[in-house]
Amino acid sequence: MILFDGGSAMFYKSTRNPNLKLKASQAIAKGLSDEGGLFVPSSLPSVSDKFEAWQKLGYLELAEEIFKLFLDDFTEEEIKDCVTGAYSPEKFGGKTPVKIVPLAKEKAEYMLELWHGPTCAFKDMALQILPRFLTAAQRKNSGDKEAVILVATSGDTGKAALEGFKDVDGTSIIVFYPDGGVSQVQRKQMETQEGKNVKVCAVKGNFDDTQTGVKIIFNNAEMKEFLAEKNCFFSSANSINWGRLLPQVVYYFYSYFELCRTGKISAGDEINITVPTGNFGNILAAYYAHKMGLPVNKFICASNKNNVLADFIKTGTYNRKREFYLTSSPSMDILVSSNLERLLYLLSGENSESVSLWMKDLNENGSYTVDEKTFAEISSKFVGGYCNDEETAEIINRVFEDDKYLADPHTAVAIGVYEKYQQETADKTPVIIASTASPYKFSESVLPALGEGTEMDEFSKVKKLEEISGVIAPVQIKELETLTERFNVVIEKENMAEFVKQTVAEKKA
Ligand SMILES: *Cc1c(COP(=O)(O)O)cnc(C)c1O
Repeated sequence: MILFDGGSAMFYKSTRNPNLKLKASQAIAKGLSDEGGLFVPSSLPSVSDKFEAWQKLGYLELAEEIFKLFLDDFTEEEIKDCVTGAYSPEKFGGKTPVKIVPLAKEKAEYMLELWHGPTCAFKDMALQILPRFLTAAQRKNSGDKEAVILVATSGDTGKAALEGFKDVDGTSIIVFYPDGGVSQVQRKQMETQEGKNVKVCAVKGNFDDTQTGVKIIFNNAEMKEFLAEKNCFFSSANSINWGRLLPQVVYYFYSYFELCRTGKISAGDEINITVPTGNFGNILAAYYAHKMGLPVNKFICASNKNNVLADFIKTGTYNRKREFYLTSSPSMDILVSSNLERLLYLLSGENSESVSLWMKDLNENGSYTVDEKTFAEISSKFVGGYCNDEETAEIINRVFEDDKYLADPHTAVAIGVYEKYQQETADKTPVIIASTASPYKFSESVLPALGEGTEMDEFSKVKKLEEISGVIAPVQIKELETLTERFNVVIEKENMAEFVKQTVAEKKA
């Protein structure tokens, strides 16, 4: 990687190496730093003075303004092309790709629906635009080299990445998911994926095994060499890529402005933000927005029974040595939340030495404890909590009965954790709760929560849920029934590298 030399206001460093200085396009093309660290911007620009002007912008215009601040080696035209291509009304069902819906009339609780894109999960918000960022970045840096995108998914990322990258020139994509660790609809969505540059493979193991497998391949010198020989290089669509995190910053600003525009809050008022959390990308984007000037009181980090983050926020010790549970919210079944590293980097005062040691501890001993100052920073802004599957089902039932809101299990976890926080603190700050998936992606959990049986095939479940909820299912989910499965490979985790080699060799033969 060529290091560029000053000049520009914004550059990118690694959380584990203070001496790196990359352009935005380099950070995006590369995905992960060689020593294992994550790329972070050299500064977070303050935008408080832009609020008045920004309030008047539509979603796409706002996205362009924010991206310009961070992608300063992209031309305005490139950014505009990326944005308009990614967030078209055809893909997101309307002029604005997100929707903000009050949960209950008399309360200041707003659902930020992020799942109106092609795969019905919030990951579309980032994964529709990442491939566009990446191809633009590639043109600047690596000429005609082909990016091989490796993805480890606990469900939603895989499909969203496949949709984003399918038939994008100069890229190919390989998605690994834990066999038996995703919902039936998620599996079907991936196995039926179309496109000539896509591959899908199930791995015996859980999500962390899959993610670890991908990280090992990424950092394996022999694999890198093999790819270089084939005129390819690895890149990542996982939320460790800066090009995935950045698009998520936009909707926190947008929803704040929308609450201002509709008179729910006044400009300058603080809000709370609650996010159902897995890899810590979505909530981190909210924190970045805050660091840029968004007035936020508390970040409420919601976990399922895999409550490693809730414990960390309470104690300052991150300990992944614990039982791993498969839950009704599989996209949050994670014991190693990769993006937390970026938060630790910020809150430790950009101390890459400490961050490197903590991550080494995590790798070698399965746990680490942050220093007191960093812990105090975390405690001042973050609240952690969790809901088990039983509580999650209760929430789905209750918000449907009381508020006529049909929540998927991930979103229900967030609502549940927010309610617990509310009961403990009586905090009346208006709250934005991220709603991260269409309930129809998880009808096998949503139906029983509403008191219905599930002794039927997956598509009858979708129809049943439509019947009892009166909410129409997205066509992308209904049409799955008629699509043929293209992939059905299951491999041992030790064979992931071999699978990648074979795929690249076939493509380049
Ligand atoms: C990925 C995902 C999450 C977790 O988001 P992170 O950014 O990984 O914390 C929550 N809900 C759904 C539906 C998801 O797909």
